[in-house]
Amino acid sequence: MSTARPIHFGDPVRRLRGIGPRQEEELAERGVRTLGDLLEHLPFRYEDRRRPLPLSDARPGEVLTAIGEIVSTHSAGARRRRLNILTVVIDDGTSEMRVLFFNRPYLAEYFEQGARVLVHGAVRLTRHGLEMHAPEFEILRPGGGLSGVTGWIPVYEKVGPLKARRVRQAIAVILDGLEEIDDPLDAEMLSRLGLPSRLDAFRQVHRPGSSVDESDLRSRCTAGHRRLAFDEFFLLEAGLALRRARRMREKRCEGYRLDEDLRRRLAAVLPFKLTAAQQRVLGEIGEDLKAAWPMSRLLMGDVGSGKTIVALLAMLVARENGFQAALMAPTEVLARQHAAGLQALLQGHSMTVDLLSAGIPMRQQKQVRARIEDGLAQLIVGTHSLISEKVKFKKLGMVVIDEQHRFGVVQRADLVSKGAHPDVLVMSATPIPRTLAMVLYGDLDVSILDEKPPGRRPIRTVVRRADQREQVFRGLRQAIDEGRQIYVVRPAVEDGAKSGLRAAQQAPAEFRAAFPDKELRIGIVHGKMKAEERQERLESFKAGNEQILVATTVIEVGIDIASASVILVEDAERFGLAQLHQLRGRVGRGDLKSYCVLIASEGADPEALERLRVLEETDDGFRVAEKDLCLRGAGEVAGTAQSGMPSFRVADLVRHKELLLIARNEAFRHIDSEGRTSFSEALRREILRKYGTQLRLAETG
Ligand code: ADP
Ligand code: MG
Repeated sequence: MSTARPIHFGDPVRRLRGIGPRQEEELAERGVRTLGDLLEHLPFRYEDRRRPLPLSDARPGEVLTAIGEIVSTHSAGARRRRLNILTVVIDDGTSEMRVLFFNRPYLAEYFEQGARVLVHGAVRLTRHGLEMHAPEFEILRPGGGLSGVTGWIPVYEKVGPLKARRVRQAIAVILDGLEEIDDPLDAEMLSRLGLPSRLDAFRQVHRPGSSVDESDLRSRCTAGHRRLAFDEFFLLEAGLALRRARRMREKRCEGYRLDEDLRRRLAAVLPFKLTAAQQRVLGEIGEDLKAAWPMSRLLMGDVGSGKTIVALLAMLVARENGFQAALMAPTEVLARQHAAGLQALLQGHSMTVDLLSAGIPMRQQKQVRARIEDGLAQLIVGTHSLISEKVKFKKLGMVVIDEQHRFGVVQRADLVSKGAHPDVLVMSATPIPRTLAMVLYGDLDVSILDEKPPGRRPIRTVVRRADQREQVFRGLRQAIDEGRQIYVVRPAVEDGAKSGLRAAQQAPAEFRAAFPDKELRIGIVHGKMKAEERQERLESFKAGNEQILVATTVIEVGIDIASASVILVEDAERFGLAQLHQLRGRVGRGDLKSYCVLIASEGADPEALERLRVLEETDDGFRVAEKDLCLRGAGEVAGTAQSGMPSFRVADLVRHKELLLIARNEAFRHIDSEGRTSFSEALRREILRKYGTQLRLAETG
């Protein structure tokens, strides 16, 4: 680094000494072009070198920071081939210690006799006495102080061609040279929220002083970390606000009529009294439909919370206003189930529901497409077939997407683009914590159905260890005797020697062998089966032809067989909590008290079992999801993988949850009811730089 000129955040990395065109290129490939980009690489941990101790205080098994003089170095190949051992003996006046490095003979030239060196690492007792193996080390400059080598030392991942140690040096140089950096965030807001300036934040996270609170530092919750986490959240939410504002300016061609007369007629369709949650959500949807811009709403509700009727009513409003409404489901089975369910609800109201999917005969598909094109079909249910180019809507005004996480972003957008700014309602039975929803679908309005229709009998869930299998089978025998229908879920389809997972295909033989006296009829469904075959087998189980249905997670969504009242999940720890919760939702749909038995595999560790117990404690999908988020992190929570979830450098949805809520409020204050925004130009540029790409990815319509 040439120290003559002051350096700036936006300077190219090539300003650093030792970074030539080639490294510059490699860094650019990793998105590191400027000094600022490098500063955004934060330490992933901190080494506690606050208290250097005399060598005489070394205790085996403890981590020690010590400073000594090099007495001798010795490099030798060991008897075992290809191992070089460099032995450095240091002495600090209180004692001597051997420090060993393996296969790094080139280090010898650094360790000159008489030089002072700081070492940090675990002390071990060997037959040669106390030793340190491969410790962290710093050669100290003669007469130099200890700043930068003792205290909290940041530890980095390597960045492209730069080794971790080099990253540390480079960042130190940058921090020494920086005088000021632009802060895209509003100073008034920062001081109101008690957050430090951007430069101070970088200083704190890269060079925490010795006075920093240790637990804050370890949990990345120092003021500096919080400020940088806030930046990520705020820029994201601001980006989402921009997207929302854009949509608010896309005026719908016509507003919807939603008067008393229409309400009365819709109410007549209902076979039951809506729950308070359903009423509340319908109110929210109603407000959307009266507004001049199209609705974009996510409806989250646990399995069985009654989302379908809510969707149907929204679809009917569109229909009554002369628009077509389409519901897209991720599987053939679900589409058929929805079509049949909606048709049943509309019994006696002279309205038909059209079904379009790859599973119905070609000729019929053609007819349905024709009906869609000339507007005869008004309520349409289908699968991906709906987004085929062959499908042209006359006047599509309402798009409902069920189990939205099963669809790619593009597929959703494709259906939406078949109308002129239609209203969009996406539904999810995979409840995700509100914080996560905000990040994933932050520009959608969120409605939550958090109440189940009355009369449900709770499902009793039990977790069992592998060695309790016999007990589980006694329970199964009783269930069979009572004439119950049982799902058995296994993680794999076929026996894979390496997976070690229980395979669905083995199950029928195993269960027949376990109950030789019962002459069990056992069906099986799995993902490697054709859709029609799967459908047939489900129908057969539904008709009561089999006592047991063995399945993989294909039954996770939507399967509605009221007579099944027991679900046994094997190797249960292999599934996510949210997924198990979904599976559990397959039972408890009829009048019988239902059971969910989760049996862990032989190899399951106690922690995994503990995790499963969450399901024993609660049947609230949101609480399960919240737990899943805490235990496994956002990336793992069901359904988030493909949804274009942004990756954060500092921000953490669990740790910094309250910051996300604040960031959202602050960001959305910048849009008004007409869709006008008031972000500064600098902020807009920053939003695009950071989240431009990802936000397009996360686009829902
Ligand atoms: P999900 O939210 O899982 O899609 P559904 O919409 O399929 O749930 O509803 C589950 C069951 O509950 C259906 O059989 C439905 O007819 C019934 N249901 C929905 N709302 C009510 C209600 N308010 N009162 C009684 N039963 C209801
Ligand atoms: Mg549903």
